[in-house]
Amino acid sequence: MNMMSYNSNNSSGGGGGYGHGGGEDMNVKPAWLERLMAETFFGGCGVHQNQRKNEKNIFCLHCCLSICPHCLSSHRPHPLLQGN
Ligand SMILES: [Zn+2]
Ligand SMILES: [Zn+2]
Repeated sequence: MNMMSYNSNNSSGGGGGYGHGGGEDMNVKPAWLERLMAETFFGGCGVHQNQRKNEKNIFCLHCCLSICPHCLSSHRPHPLLQGN
């Protein structure tokens, strides 16, 4: 008896949820980057101050620490960021 009248609403429009956003994480600075900027990058390594080429020009993302090439051996498995 009462056939539900066919509602043709669902054919309207057509897809619009996409296309928004993008680039919203551009402003979010990762913690390690703040730390990196706070560190004295390219300063001498305190541990290896007697050695040559002890500039701390490597940053360990795992330890949030800038290290010198001589420190590198203990950070090998860590994700490293090399300056220069
Ligand atoms: Zn060192
Ligand atoms: Zn490390």
